[in-house]
Amino acid sequence: MAGRHFLQIPGPTNVPERILRAMDRAVVDHRGPDLPAVVHEAVAGLKQVFGTARGEIVLYPASGTGAWEASLVNTLSPGDHVLAFVNGHFSQLYAECARRLGLTVETVEVPWGEAVPPEQVRDRLSRDGERRYRAVLVVHNETSTGVTTDLAAVRAAIDAAGHPALYFVDVVSALGSIDLRFDEWKIDVALTGTQKGLMLPPGMAVLCAGPRALEAGERATLPRYFFDWRPVVREMQRGYFPYTPATLMLYGLREAVRMLLEEGLPNVLERHRRLAEGVRRAVTAWGLENLCARREWYSNSLTAVVVPHGVDSDAVVRAAAARLNLSLGVGLGRVKGKVFRIGHLGALNELEVLATLAGTELACTMAGVPVPLGAGVTACERYFAEQYAGTAPARPTAAKAALT
Ligand SMILES: *Cc1c(COP(=O)(O)O)cnc(C)c1O
Repeated sequence: MAGRHFLQIPGPTNVPERILRAMDRAVVDHRGPDLPAVVHEAVAGLKQVFGTARGEIVLYPASGTGAWEASLVNTLSPGDHVLAFVNGHFSQLYAECARRLGLTVETVEVPWGEAVPPEQVRDRLSRDGERRYRAVLVVHNETSTGVTTDLAAVRAAIDAAGHPALYFVDVVSALGSIDLRFDEWKIDVALTGTQKGLMLPPGMAVLCAGPRALEAGERATLPRYFFDWRPVVREMQRGYFPYTPATLMLYGLREAVRMLLEEGLPNVLERHRRLAEGVRRAVTAWGLENLCARREWYSNSLTAVVVPHGVDSDAVVRAAAARLNLSLGVGLGRVKGKVFRIGHLGALNELEVLATLAGTELACTMAGVPVPLGAGVTACERYFAEQYAGTAPARPTAAKAALT
């Protein structure tokens, strides 16, 4: 197909040219003299992105799924009790990962489309008089539903219960798009993959482990070898790894954090908020619903759009891919066939969002979802225009008559 492919799934995301260029080089010696400078700069940048001064960055050639496993095997022992909040597909899988590793997992089921309720966190932990839960698992941004949980409120709930459980958060589709304050919110492990807000290809798992998690790692007895973070932390301090790292990805990672810091993290977050709001205005103008139940939970990295009864949302995704060279996300798990997802995270700007919305309107029309053509694009344009109101000259003078 002619023209560029619009990769608007909620990860993997578009990789900027600048990052591709940074990775386009001969493979380096991973024990050679060049690597430490790359690793040190990437790690220092990542710490800023995570919002941490006291956490350790841990990298593996893996994906977000590997990061889940690493967070658990490094900190827990067989049979340990874990409290997992499940409000979508990814939180369900994180809990399943813990179960398969031999942990005793209790899940709190939250309706899909809702955020983790802090009251329930407080309630469940307060009732755990014997303090059996060793860890609480929460997904910051549920990528299956487009719902963001207030991690500060969850932390406050854990504190209100006076519970010592470790606080683990999956920030896979949030980091670099939605505010994260690892130290301030006393998170013990935050984990991600490289292919979402970090704008890199898939291929690396990134964890940030706080002092309590690192300390738990000294006593944990779940079997671990590749994922044992102790040698990784040790070697990374010298700029090396105990395994062969994804060296070219490290160059890309350094470039990605440079880009985020050059734009400025507050600006990056504000851009995501603005683009996301533009998409939401479009969804409303189409007369369709956001799966996310409340405004305060709306995700700034993706939107899950509910299609009308009797329509298969996969048909929208198929039409977009086959006819328009546009990739939208399918509904996952329980909402398969009922929603499609628009990814609006990573390297993205206004025009790309508008093109995506134009393509989504066309795909909906082709798939039999009745949306007024142009309505979403117009609503989004209006919103973007409002954002820039006041930046135009007060009295435009470009009348044709003035030219002659
Ligand atoms: C994408 C995603 C994952 C899965 O990561 P993989 O890199 O596909 O293994 C986990 N959690 C969330 C919230 C995600 O969005």
